[in-house]
Amino acid sequence: MSTATTHGGPQLPQERRLVTEIPGPRSRELFARKQSAVPPGIGTTLPVFVTHAGGGVIVDADGNSLIDFGSGIAVTNVGNAAPRVVERVQKQVADFTHTCFMVAPYESYVAVCERLNELTPGDHEKRTFLVNSGAEAVENAVKVARHATGRQAVVVFDHGYHGRTLLTMTLTAKSMPYKHGFGPFAPEVYRVPLAYPFRWPTGPDNCAEEAAAQAIDMINKQIGAENVAAVLIEPIAGEGGFIEPARGFLPKIVEFCRANGIVFIADEVQTGFARTGHMFACEDEGIVPDIITTAKGIAGGLPLAAVTGRADLLDHVHSGGLGGTYGGNPLACEAALGVLETIEQDKLVERARHIGEVMLPRLRAVQEHNPIVGDVRGRGAMIAVELVVPGTKEPYPAAEIARRCHEQGLLVLTAGTYGNVLRFLPPLVIPDHLLEEGLSILEKALNVD
Ligand SMILES: *Cc1c(COP(=O)(O)O)cnc(C)c1O
Repeated sequence: MSTATTHGGPQLPQERRLVTEIPGPRSRELFARKQSAVPPGIGTTLPVFVTHAGGGVIVDADGNSLIDFGSGIAVTNVGNAAPRVVERVQKQVADFTHTCFMVAPYESYVAVCERLNELTPGDHEKRTFLVNSGAEAVENAVKVARHATGRQAVVVFDHGYHGRTLLTMTLTAKSMPYKHGFGPFAPEVYRVPLAYPFRWPTGPDNCAEEAAAQAIDMINKQIGAENVAAVLIEPIAGEGGFIEPARGFLPKIVEFCRANGIVFIADEVQTGFARTGHMFACEDEGIVPDIITTAKGIAGGLPLAAVTGRADLLDHVHSGGLGGTYGGNPLACEAALGVLETIEQDKLVERARHIGEVMLPRLRAVQEHNPIVGDVRGRGAMIAVELVVPGTKEPYPAAEIARRCHEQGLLVLTAGTYGNVLRFLPPLVIPDHLLEEGLSILEKALNVD
């Protein structure tokens, strides 16, 4: 196939092209090597081995070109090997690769922090520091909140996902596969209901009020608001199944936090960086978090994450209390600056909205005549369908439909507490014809009888 192209990036032919079955013989060979070298705990969504990627496609070792509706889990929002990222990282890797920002600093780290202080919701004075992963950002946000409040309890929500380290798997709701067998868990973590409209027992209409009232009642009765350091929530639950909390729920929780001196932390690791048709998902309801954690979409795939928040909270921690050897690595910082330029100059916030405007009506039309589509939801380029056994709300396994998409060269991801959500996270630079083609494949794959 496109052996003429020696690099990935947007210049790759933007086409779906299958030259072998999926996965092909070369990928199967590599997968056999993976099976003997890597433990099974590291799962695989689609066992094709990648050689190039860019725009809306992923090219594999057999020369197949697949449509990408995953962006490496909401990471390559600007596309793989995005030109501004490539250029900056190539220059940086030749200049210097590491000094440790805590040992001898460099400008790009500061520039990323300045940009995040400007771009995140709220015009109050902010500070930012950089770490390596989403989990590390969440851990650090909790450290800061505990230090600044002198309190210990952390409140999280049903269906929440915050990472795989000891604290963050404790903060995560779902047992299998994230927590099962990995206890004991960290103390002082409490879970309250999330306003999940599709599954709220009394229906979606009173979901926001009822869920907020239950959550607040549990905090008051079971923990005591005065013991709570932080309330931590994803503005749209990602791994939980792209659950948009019923409108009005988040503002009520924020109001409660403000009234009780509780730090409100928005985990925007998955929702950030133009993904939802806003730079950050909190903007949709005008939420201004005290602390916001970001990662995934921040640096086009280079490992980087950030904690951004009120200056008075972040300045509370003593010198040397935060940091890490690699946090804000110079390559990752240059990549982040390239990502932020790309989002702005290529108007990717608008582009994300456009993707939603293409996907949602088509998926809602499918829902009209296909009873396994129980719910269609999401914002911008963060869209999901929740699958049900026709005529019920019983979960229908999304993995089965995902496999049918994969065979046709469409990479989709699954999610959901009940494993019944297909989620779509295309790169924001995907061309419209691939978006439409992907939706047609999906439409067919959903026709099970
Ligand atoms: C992915 C994710 C994390 C964890 O990020 P890692 O970089 O995998 O550690 C935390 N919170 C949310 C909302 C996520 O989607």
